[in-house]
Amino acid sequence: MATTSRRRAAETTDYPMEEKILALYDLQKIDSRIDEINKVKGELPLEVEDLADEIAGLETRIANIAQEIDQLNSLTGQRKTGIEEAKSMITRYKEQQDNVRNNREFDSLSKEIEYQNLEIELSEKRLKEYAAEIKVKKKMIEDSQVVIDDRKMDYTEKKSELESIEQETAKSVEDLKKQAEKAKMKIDQRLLTAYERIRGNVYNGLAVVTVKRDACGGCFNGIPPQRQAEIATNKKIIVCEYCGRILVADSGATDAL
Ligand SMILES: [Zn+2]
Repeated sequence: MATTSRRRAAETTDYPMEEKILALYDLQKIDSRIDEINKVKGELPLEVEDLADEIAGLETRIANIAQEIDQLNSLTGQRKTGIEEAKSMITRYKEQQDNVRNNREFDSLSKEIEYQNLEIELSEKRLKEYAAEIKVKKKMIEDSQVVIDDRKMDYTEKKSELESIEQETAKSVEDLKKQAEKAKMKIDQRLLTAYERIRGNVYNGLAVVTVKRDACGGCFNGIPPQRQAEIATNKKIIVCEYCGRILVADSGATDAL
């Protein structure tokens, strides 16, 4: 209860602009240190994600092929039953032929037998086709499985590498995040949103920069003396007209960070 009200009080407190700007600069330094720590991970997070996607894709592919094989197996079963039925019909027709009263009846049964034999031939042809398809599909599954096994090894290795980096840096990142939260308390939401947006848009994650050698510390374009004087007061938000980064004066900022 006490914490909540204290936090709410902090949020509603409107800090003087100079303090907000300095807090923003502090936040930038903290975030830059987190960025620096995350850099150690390099391409690992992306690689782990890509591998997981690839493995999931291959597993879906295998499941689909397995389903196709199931269908072919059930078609095979149907054809085999059909052949058995045709064979028993032929046996029956042959028995009937022994008891016919005339040639016409005999011929008609012969035609039926011929038809059933053609059915058997067709089914046997299909059975060969199904068997060939099943063989191809089983090979596809085997090949995909080899790739999956390979990717899984890669995945496990990279994932554990990433996890060990995360474990090593967890404490520092956590501390920095706490510091960031403290700094954020002094900054209003609109400014924070702008900060996050600029950070997301620039390649180096620097949304807040100082003036260095009469130039923007982000894009190195020159800043006129009049503007530099304005920035030096830290009394209002001034953005670089070239790159849109927020420009602050370095003096007075917490250098310990
Ligand atoms: Zn700039």
